[in-house]
Amino acid sequence: MAQPVTLSTKKYDLYIDGHWRPASDGATLETHNPATGEKLADIAEASQADVDAAAVAARKAFHGWARTGIPERSAILLHIADVIEDNLDYLAAIETMDNGKPIRETTGADLPLAVDHFRYFAGVIRGDEGSANVLPGNLLNLILREPLGVVGQIVPWNFPFLMAAWKLAPALAAGDTVLFKPSSATSLSVLELARLIAEAEILPPGVLNILTGSGAKSGEYILKADVDKLAFTGSTEVGREIARAAAEKIIPSTLELGGKSANVFFADADIDLALEGVGLGILFNQGQVCSAGSRIFVDHAFYDEFMGRVVDEFKKVRVGDPLDPQTQMGAQVNEKQLDKILNYVHIGQEEGATVAVGGERLTEGAYGKGAFLEPTLLADVDNKMRVAQEEIFGPVGVVIPFKDEDDVIRMANDSVYGLGGGVFTNDISKALRVAGGIRTGRVWVNTYNQFPAGAPFGGYKESGIGRETHKSILDAYSQTKNVLVNLNKKPGGFYVEG
Ligand code: NAP
Ligand code: MG
Repeated sequence: MAQPVTLSTKKYDLYIDGHWRPASDGATLETHNPATGEKLADIAEASQADVDAAAVAARKAFHGWARTGIPERSAILLHIADVIEDNLDYLAAIETMDNGKPIRETTGADLPLAVDHFRYFAGVIRGDEGSANVLPGNLLNLILREPLGVVGQIVPWNFPFLMAAWKLAPALAAGDTVLFKPSSATSLSVLELARLIAEAEILPPGVLNILTGSGAKSGEYILKADVDKLAFTGSTEVGREIARAAAEKIIPSTLELGGKSANVFFADADIDLALEGVGLGILFNQGQVCSAGSRIFVDHAFYDEFMGRVVDEFKKVRVGDPLDPQTQMGAQVNEKQLDKILNYVHIGQEEGATVAVGGERLTEGAYGKGAFLEPTLLADVDNKMRVAQEEIFGPVGVVIPFKDEDDVIRMANDSVYGLGGGVFTNDISKALRVAGGIRTGRVWVNTYNQFPAGAPFGGYKESGIGRETHKSILDAYSQTKNVLVNLNKKPGGFYVEG
């Protein structure tokens, strides 16, 4: 059994301009372990003055950082990756304690993926050789990439460390400086990363600033600060506010928002891959995944047989102590989230759905202290119901039968969201037809919720704007500078005879 680790401090300050300091008004928040209810630490809550001080520091640092050579920035990203890898077990345990997600996921997915993310961007910037050609008129067309400036980045609590990597790696790679806000529910892992980066003196002061605090305060202050771009991952509701703030300033924003993704199971699917695919879709990270396969569409030709097997599998899932390597599902992030999820189960029942498995909070013994839920499936669901249209953000899948390809594509697209999706079949042509028919940014075939660096991830429709985890995001953290050079020896004859 993995043991809780000792935090480097019980009171975390803000990291501004290379220094740790309390909030200017002394404000703090508490963060808790959702599996035990215990308080883990106090964290500073950034005031507007703190955010503005960080913006000034980041602006000052930008001039030097933007001019570092690509090989140097690449080496710095590799150094950060190494530091994370060297401290992987420690950071994974902190993430598990602060968030409630199982240690098998933090050590097996969140942290290694974050390491790889820094290495990926360290590599792709070395490969960018720019572009130049000669245009009509004998003009040499130099297309240069310049860093954008100071970026404000805000991420949610569901993958605190991995979302930090998705944001920080490309911004630093592009030569930008950062104001970064984690969720107040889960700030510890990125604070520990900043400590490790500071101790190893990897980044110049002001390049990375960590501004902890609530969204309503510190988050809003970042929207008002002197930044050149906003990058956000979170709910569609808050995403709209980010986009509005960016519009006011005429600065770009990238948005990774919510989802209600379709996970489609055809009768010709490999049954073992399909059974795993349901769990990967809706139980991974306790279902708190933006791209969760939360609408489970099942071919009517094998609905009864498939449901029987899935229900059996769901009953076997080991829910428990997140630090236990055997645990498959840990705690929901907090009581508020747990109440929201249970309320949706209730709403579903009122709408006519039936609970096929789960549906209850776990309260016996050690469960009583934490926010634990049973893996849950709702059957007798119509795609028009609220439980099929709204993001539940928990281990609650809704199961809907379908007749044929056209039927399932139509229902899959009947959603305001378009983030993820899955197709399980042994017929590759069918898989590609369905993948092409669903209006969504990512479709997995015969697997679900894999997030390798190098594959672009992002939403259609209300699921967002932009693609992360791929080199194309560097464009969103850069400006394009064009230099046109006249290669003619003599004037062209417009005003001066050549
Ligand atoms: P949220 O309420 O939108 O919060 C996300 C972040 O924004 C948090 O850091 C939050 O701070 C902050 N925030 C809240 N209100 C703000 C405001 N008015 N101004 C500035 N910042 C503000 O989302 P959540 O409920 O924590 O996270 C779940 C949502 O994220 C889901 O909808 C999920 O689908 C989405 N998500 C999307 C992706 C993706 O890649 N598309 C990935 C993960 C999650 P506090 O938490 O401290 O209040
Ligand atoms: Mg916490």
